[in-house]
Amino acid sequence: MIQNPTSEIKFSNGLNIPVELHKVRMVQKLFLKPVDERLAAIEKGGFNTFQLNTLDIFLDMLTDSGTNAMSDNQIASMLRADDAYAGSQSFYRMEQAVRDVFGKHWVLPVHQGRAAENIISQAFIKKGDAIPMNYHFTTTKAHMELNGGEVLEIYTEEALKIKSDVLFKGNIDINKLNDVIAKYGKEHVPFIRLEASTNLIGGQPFSIQNMREVKKVADKHGIIIVLDASLIGENAYFIKKREEEFKNASIADILLTMCSLSDIVYFSSRKVSSTRGGGICTNSEELFMKMRDLVVLFEGFTTYGGMSVREIEAMAIGLYETTDETVISQSPSFIEYAVNELDKSGIPVVTPAGALGCHIDAMGFLPHVPQAEYPAGALAAALYIVSGIRGMERGTISSVRDDKGNDVLADVELLRLAFPRRVFTLSQTMFVVDRVQWLFKNRELIGGLKFTEEPAVLRFFNGRLTPTSNWPEKLIAKFKADFGGSL
Ligand SMILES: *Cc1c(COP(=O)(O)O)cnc(C)c1O
Repeated sequence: MIQNPTSEIKFSNGLNIPVELHKVRMVQKLFLKPVDERLAAIEKGGFNTFQLNTLDIFLDMLTDSGTNAMSDNQIASMLRADDAYAGSQSFYRMEQAVRDVFGKHWVLPVHQGRAAENIISQAFIKKGDAIPMNYHFTTTKAHMELNGGEVLEIYTEEALKIKSDVLFKGNIDINKLNDVIAKYGKEHVPFIRLEASTNLIGGQPFSIQNMREVKKVADKHGIIIVLDASLIGENAYFIKKREEEFKNASIADILLTMCSLSDIVYFSSRKVSSTRGGGICTNSEELFMKMRDLVVLFEGFTTYGGMSVREIEAMAIGLYETTDETVISQSPSFIEYAVNELDKSGIPVVTPAGALGCHIDAMGFLPHVPQAEYPAGALAAALYIVSGIRGMERGTISSVRDDKGNDVLADVELLRLAFPRRVFTLSQTMFVVDRVQWLFKNRELIGGLKFTEEPAVLRFFNGRLTPTSNWPEKLIAKFKADFGGSL
């Protein structure tokens, strides 16, 4: 396979831009609606970008989940799917792909990443347990707490700093790990969870060196390591780019090394293989047996796990493509371009550039909006209004209230602009940068939000909010004056 990542292609005039290493062969038409219609759409959606209809969206940067572009080979593979409830050839091809790419023999299919979290939480967590991890993910935490577990984030001091040049902000703090085990006792630590390309703190990777140190501690106490591999390809790419020991290693070898340091690996195929579905794998038959029957109960038979056979076929090909540096480098190189452009204009953005998306620091962007008025949610709504770009709030709205009903202010308030793999072009990326720059110049016009309807569980999905003043109208007036129109 030819592997020439974007970053290695140079321009003779010194231009430093990423190049798309694929051609577009199937397209979807986009619409950019006038700004007044965009305001009406976000009002209808309760100022929550999850509630928008894609017909009202120009560039959908909500997530990379299930939105990465599939390859020709993935689409082709779907035609040979073997329809069978049990024993489908499609499953065996996917199982082989997991064995080849992750080096794990025992494979369980599930319908998506959070389903794996449900199975693992039910199988291993009991009331009073503590689960140390580099950082939580929304669905992970919800499932662990549902089973009586407590999530303990033991990130390094650098992890939550917006501006940084530390290359592995996703690392676990080993001293904190030792402290947690001493405090709770190893019998109350069912596993240590490592999340590749730590999603909620800006898609930041951990290093193999850190994994080895975690493994040493885990082995000493007989605790297993569970790896959330949803964004493992990008983490492996950063290891190759940033960890000296691996600069000449292939992505395939780095993936195998990461998995060999983990006892259970689970993933959302919506991310890692640009399809749908998910999986859990391990080399321990004993661990596999603890989870197998839960898959039958919650997901479906063990050769489809809630997925269609077509998805399973595409997943197998997608897993192999995760080892291709040209595929895996695409999203990080576009993110790096956007992050650098925003950083150059003084916009507070998480650095170094990570995986999955460009993360804007909403508290730095909107210092006049109190955190209790959800600056990241407000910024997401404002950006949508002025551009038709849909981002995702990753801040206090994405957390939950405490026992007393008080808001738990998030460690960081981020507006995430996801770059699904191979979906957006460079000119679209430049449009994103331009609109964020315009918004930054006019940031004092943006105000806060408050809840009008608040679900008890994962409220960020279906919650409804409203502006704390008529700031959207003022923002639109300035927009029309500056752009001389309504697009
Ligand atoms: C998306 C994601 C999940 C959940 O996966 P779904 O397929 O959306 O259920 C879990 N962990 C991480 C790190 C993720 O990014």
